[in-house]
Amino acid sequence: MKLCVDLGATNVKSSLISDGKIIRSALTPTITDRGIEGVTESLRKSIDKLMNGDVSAVCISSAGTIDSAEGKVIYATDNLPGYTGFEIVRWVKERYGVPCAALNDGHAALLGEIFLDPALRESRTAMLTLGSGVGGAYAVRGKIKADESNDYARFGHLPVEKDGILCNCGRRGCAEQYLSGRAINRMAAKEGIGTDKLFEEYASGNPTAQKIVARLREYLCVLLREVEKTSPFDVCILGGGVTDGMKETFDAFIAGIPCDIRRAKAGNAAGMLGAYYFGKDL
Ligand SMILES: [Zn+2]
Repeated sequence: MKLCVDLGATNVKSSLISDGKIIRSALTPTITDRGIEGVTESLRKSIDKLMNGDVSAVCISSAGTIDSAEGKVIYATDNLPGYTGFEIVRWVKERYGVPCAALNDGHAALLGEIFLDPALRESRTAMLTLGSGVGGAYAVRGKIKADESNDYARFGHLPVEKDGILCNCGRRGCAEQYLSGRAINRMAAKEGIGTDKLFEEYASGNPTAQKIVARLREYLCVLLREVEKTSPFDVCILGGGVTDGMKETFDAFIAGIPCDIRRAKAGNAAGMLGAYYFGKDL
């Protein structure tokens, strides 16, 4: 049995997973106002709630840039203050005396999908997570491939518009400025459509919404072509809150895009299932 953790800036999810099945889960708010002390306290609580003598390893999906080989947080934004540099794997091993593995949550989400669909273990799979930002991940035959050759699969910062909107990464026209939930809401608001209402309006046939959705589809097509240049894929999985919000309009949204696009299936448990799959040999 493995204890799997998904550490984010809002909360820490944890689950006991045995033979690929989630047995028990817990939710712990992330303390973000006391630096690394707060983050480790949240992590400790999330593990302590479920730890028992049958746990053979702890597998962690985490926000931030994670060096899995070193078991260390290379970079985290101010959403998780003090987290940069944290040796998360060593911390868990020393405290609990069990093996531990950690990886980035975007990569874990893709591995979660691969875990649920064994056919993907034979293919090259890209993932785009359209949430408050745009996350990316890429795997070849079931293994994450994120290195200098594909800019660590940071697909949200590939360009979709020349001289476009300035991104917080310093470049212009990044996908994140057009396809994230925030960007979509901004676009919709300009046309008088309420927050998170675009796909509802699209479903009910609102012509303004249809126009915006057609533009989003074009941006997605450009992004997919950019992804293909460094990370050629057979299947692209779309996940994240924006994708969830498409509800029954998903098929209409992707209609006509000349790629095998699928919707993410793992939902809330994606990170933990991916961490479980990542740590399968521990
Ligand atoms: Zn950017």
